[in-house]
Amino acid sequence: MLNIECLVTGYLEENCYIVSIGEKTLIVDPGDDEETILDFIKENKLDVIGILITHHHFDHVGALKRMQSEFPVAKLIDYKNNGDISLPPFIFKIIETNGHTMDSVSFYFDEYDVIFTGDFVFKGTIGNYKEDAEDEMIKSLKVFKYIPKEVSVYPGHGAPTTVGDELENNPFLKGI
Ligand SMILES: [Zn+2]
Repeated sequence: MLNIECLVTGYLEENCYIVSIGEKTLIVDPGDDEETILDFIKENKLDVIGILITHHHFDHVGALKRMQSEFPVAKLIDYKNNGDISLPPFIFKIIETNGHTMDSVSFYFDEYDVIFTGDFVFKGTIGNYKEDAEDEMIKSLKVFKYIPKEVSVYPGHGAPTTVGDELENNPFLKGI
């Protein structure tokens, strides 16, 4: 079973997700609150084997350096990786979802019907993007439409949602 805990970090209230199977753990977007993240990991005696970064904005990587020094064996996974990633017991796909930034990726755990979207898609809206990145954003939104509707979406800010809910209610996805 995939266990997902959300720790809200920093003044921009970024969602840092602690994703575990047993004690094996991935940190998705270690935002700017080192102590909250470390306390949670220590209290639950988790073994961090990977740090996943949806994009390198400060609110998503504020605690990255500290996490790397605390967990030196944890593998860093970001836009420099692609395709299928295997970090046993985790297997997931990296999907390029540029637009908000040009280093934006989503992490899709298809076996568990879960996707982490960072600042690409939020509940009811999408991440802000510069005018010249509009084509990239549209391309990314088109890819999102091919993800099964039942998949749960865990965004970088705000409440979780599902792909189906967003396809139905998110104005940015409706017209694509
Ligand atoms: Zn961002």
